[in-house]
Amino acid sequence: VTAKYLLPCPCGRQLVVEPRQAGQTIACACGQLLPVPTLLDMTALEPAPLASASPPPRSTWGLKQRFRLLGIVVLLAAVFLGVLVCLGRPVSRFDTIDPDQLLRIAKTLPPSRSWDVWETMKQGLDRRVDQNYLDAMDQFHLKLGAIAGLALLGVGLIAAGAVRARSERSRIGN
Ligand SMILES: [Zn+2]
Repeated sequence: VTAKYLLPCPCGRQLVVEPRQAGQTIACACGQLLPVPTLLDMTALEPAPLASASPPPRSTWGLKQRFRLLGIVVLLAAVFLGVLVCLGRPVSRFDTIDPDQLLRIAKTLPPSRSWDVWETMKQGLDRRVDQNYLDAMDQFHLKLGAIAGLALLGVGLIAAGAVRARSERSRIGN
């Protein structure tokens, strides 16, 4: 950052001068021609405030956009994972064994064998005895919970971006 200095004019204005202007002559708005001091003498002048030298950065605007973009990405990821998990939803034996098919098999078998098939079918119908299915469902619900949390995070980020935008607007209005 190049240092800038304030060169006072007899009219009361203060002109901003840079070291590269040393030795030159500049014109004030009042028409007065002012000799810019040498580099050494310039340092004795009042330094110009940096804020007036450079325009204010727009980084906060970009931050708001990034918040919203990140929120959308997180939300989309949650939706994608949700679809994946739901497609891989655990299936109980009740869902995999077709009772009609079992009955048809049972009819073709001798009575002693059909009793076994009937027992198997009853177990399949009773989800309480299917511990594997219950464990898988627990995992399934844990995953769904985590994905719901992720989705909430995404919504929160989008909301945070919106809140930041609103506070910036009110700051500009003040
Ligand atoms: Zn002047």
